[in-house]
Amino acid sequence: MLGRLGLAVITLSTAQASLAQPPRVSAPISNVSYEITADSSAVGRRQLGVAMSFTVAGTAPVILALPAWSPGHYTLLWFARRVSQFSAQSNGALLDWRKVDFQTWEIKPRSAGTVRVTFNYLADAVDRAVAWTAPNFAFFNGTNLFFYPAGRGFNWPARVSVRTEASWRIATGMDPAPGTNNFTATNYHDLTDMPFYVGRFAIDSTQIAGKWIRLAFWPAASLTTARRDRTFAWLQKIVPAQIAVFGEAPFRNYTIFQRSDTLVNGGGLEHQSSQVDEVTTSGLDASYLPGLYSHEFFHAWNVKRLRPADMVPYRYDDAQPTTWLWVSEGVTDYYGALALVRGGINDSTGFFNFIANEIASVAGAPPTAVSDASLSSWINPTDGSSGLYYPKGGLTGFLLDIMIRDATDNHESLDNVMRRLYDATYKRGKGFTGAEWWGEVSRAAGGKPFTEFARRYVDGREPLPVDSVLRLAGLRAASDTIREPRLGISTSTDSAGVSITQLSSTGAAAAAGARIGDRIISIGDFTISNDDSFEPFRARYAGTTLTTLPMTVRRGSETITLQLPVRLNARVQTHVIPIPNAPERAVRIRGGILRGSTS
Ligand SMILES: [Zn+2]
Repeated sequence: MLGRLGLAVITLSTAQASLAQPPRVSAPISNVSYEITADSSAVGRRQLGVAMSFTVAGTAPVILALPAWSPGHYTLLWFARRVSQFSAQSNGALLDWRKVDFQTWEIKPRSAGTVRVTFNYLADAVDRAVAWTAPNFAFFNGTNLFFYPAGRGFNWPARVSVRTEASWRIATGMDPAPGTNNFTATNYHDLTDMPFYVGRFAIDSTQIAGKWIRLAFWPAASLTTARRDRTFAWLQKIVPAQIAVFGEAPFRNYTIFQRSDTLVNGGGLEHQSSQVDEVTTSGLDASYLPGLYSHEFFHAWNVKRLRPADMVPYRYDDAQPTTWLWVSEGVTDYYGALALVRGGINDSTGFFNFIANEIASVAGAPPTAVSDASLSSWINPTDGSSGLYYPKGGLTGFLLDIMIRDATDNHESLDNVMRRLYDATYKRGKGFTGAEWWGEVSRAAGGKPFTEFARRYVDGREPLPVDSVLRLAGLRAASDTIREPRLGISTSTDSAGVSITQLSSTGAAAAAGARIGDRIISIGDFTISNDDSFEPFRARYAGTTLTTLPMTVRRGSETITLQLPVRLNARVQTHVIPIPNAPERAVRIRGGILRGSTS
């Protein structure tokens, strides 16, 4: 894997060397401000208007770049590709400019004074890291829009002002500045980590642990009273359980930006005082939502502040690989699930099912070092290991937690590792190294060395010692094979119901005569109302001896009942189960993990 990384770097530096003429260090600039136009005219064209102003001391070239990616979203998006009608002027006169590479512009001021750069930004991509507009709404993140001067570091202040309709609202984590719709940041990292919602959307807030927690939901109708109350109730349980790990809430306030649509990709992206979530319209009441909010919230500590040294400080011009995403993402997954059980949203069975799913995901992937899977996130491998650092990292975190507790008779925990590492690195203004991570793990475990564990199971491809470590917490993993009915279809859900969007020609639904566009009303004695309806349907008819089931569909104005042949597919299901009469020490370890306590 190091070879592959080396190759990528060599390719890049060759490309840069051939293009970098003159050296890409900008003349210094000061008094930086950005003006974003997101009124009904701009968003109606799926555009944002951007104007950047700054002061120069002379005629040396100013070199401005746009980020290649947005931290947390480990994929290269090259935001410069959405720029059009670039222009630069000073004192009313246009300035010469040229591109020095695909994401970098060089501008030639004619004198000292103020330079104003303007461009349009295409905001039509459905991606939680990319600006997006609707007729009454705009979402953007600073990485999309805010140029930085090349080679000048990121520790300079900037102002943002938003021009929009008088009746539209703005939500952002940026600090307000004097005047209307003005905001400030003291450095570029903060500037580009504070997403904006502008337009018509619903907003509400509550206090949790002394901090204001806001919900900003688009479209406005998606934030019903019931959803608001339910979401706040979840957060009242999740957030204190997470604060307990680190001993502090390091944000002034926190916003959950949520966008729901039929076309979104689904998922979340973390920022230092917010998360941007995309939820399909049919998923607005899905059971996974508390887990999504919890995962993204835990990132406010783990990765936004406690971060691998490879990613401190962030660079924006290119990929920033690390072997430690299994801690940043996988251990976040583990704590996301722990907060649900510690806060009382899930019971222990729900948490054990989460661990069982991680075990199954790891077992279903090719043997891959979790550090290699981390490193490869940027290229989205096709060998089945893509994203493996989530489940394998979460499972590794769980095993480490058990081993630390076992080595110290439940007096120490992974919680303590996280908090000490946070204090020792983030609070001293740096990222953590591998030596610091394993050092804290080993110290927490009373000096037990983890060199072998790291070599075999983290940097190596040996299967994790799941059975032997789970036993130390009075748990065992068991698998059984379930034969459940499959229809051979893909569906989408909207307010009218669940309709077939794809049909496998060899599947059961096709054999029954179903067509693309049919709306499924019921199968057997199950009403199908949304995507979540299929799981209880499969469970109900698992292993059935029936050979057909009635499937009622709506086709145009007709209601038709088809005879669905029952086709059972085998699936291996993993369970994590408490061992009856486990030793007292193992029971204490298990209880300590579930409660977030030590003995
Ligand atoms: Zn994450």
